[in-house]
Amino acid sequence: MTKPGFTPIALEDYVELHLRANPGADRADLMKRLCYAMDAHARGVRCQCGESIWIIGSAEVGLSCFTCIAGESGPDRDYEIVADDTQPPNPAVGRDAPQTARSSPPR
Ligand SMILES: [Zn+2]
Repeated sequence: MTKPGFTPIALEDYVELHLRANPGADRADLMKRLCYAMDAHARGVRCQCGESIWIIGSAEVGLSCFTCIAGESGPDRDYEIVADDTQPPNPAVGRDAPQTARSSPPR
């Protein structure tokens, strides 16, 4: 489910781009913040103004929509994480993670 005006990008691709542009950034920390924003988005959390939150921006400054974060009327092909039906990735993945059965989160 992509939003109009945004350029959809996969989480992994955005992380690579962000780290390339910000060599000092902490990958694990970035992933954690992105996953938090993605989770909030998946749960239907909205900006204080009522709009859907902008995951990428929300990872930086807190859960808000593009307009409230960027101060512009709307996105102009800005990146947005593609939040599809998959659960937020586990930041610990990368090492030989055992096949944990965490498929059913608590309700
Ligand atoms: Zn807003």
